[in-house]
Amino acid sequence: MYCNYCGKAIQDDANLCAYCGRRMGAVAGRRKLMRSRAERKIAGVCAGFAEYFDLDVTVVRVVWLIVALFGGGGILAYIIAWIVMPEEPEYVPVAPSATNVQPYQGS
Ligand SMILES: [Zn+2]
Repeated sequence: MYCNYCGKAIQDDANLCAYCGRRMGAVAGRRKLMRSRAERKIAGVCAGFAEYFDLDVTVVRVVWLIVALFGGGGILAYIIAWIVMPEEPEYVPVAPSATNVQPYQGS
């Protein structure tokens, strides 16, 4: 598997990344609700929910679309999630330069 933080290949059962020392916790670790970069169509909100709840991203999109069409709140919910949900950190193979690091905003 690959480290989520530095992108380097590490042992499958490793708890800590040997390169950057971050905790992996792939199974037991807490997951954060984040907008996915890899699976995004618009803002990665649906993909982020799919990742968080371990669902198929298509299922999440369909459900969200149905809610949007029939309830009307889906679009608003999407926009709110877009604003509120932090974006998944970019997977960079090399250490990012200090100028590219954005300070974490919001809570
Ligand atoms: Zn790492």
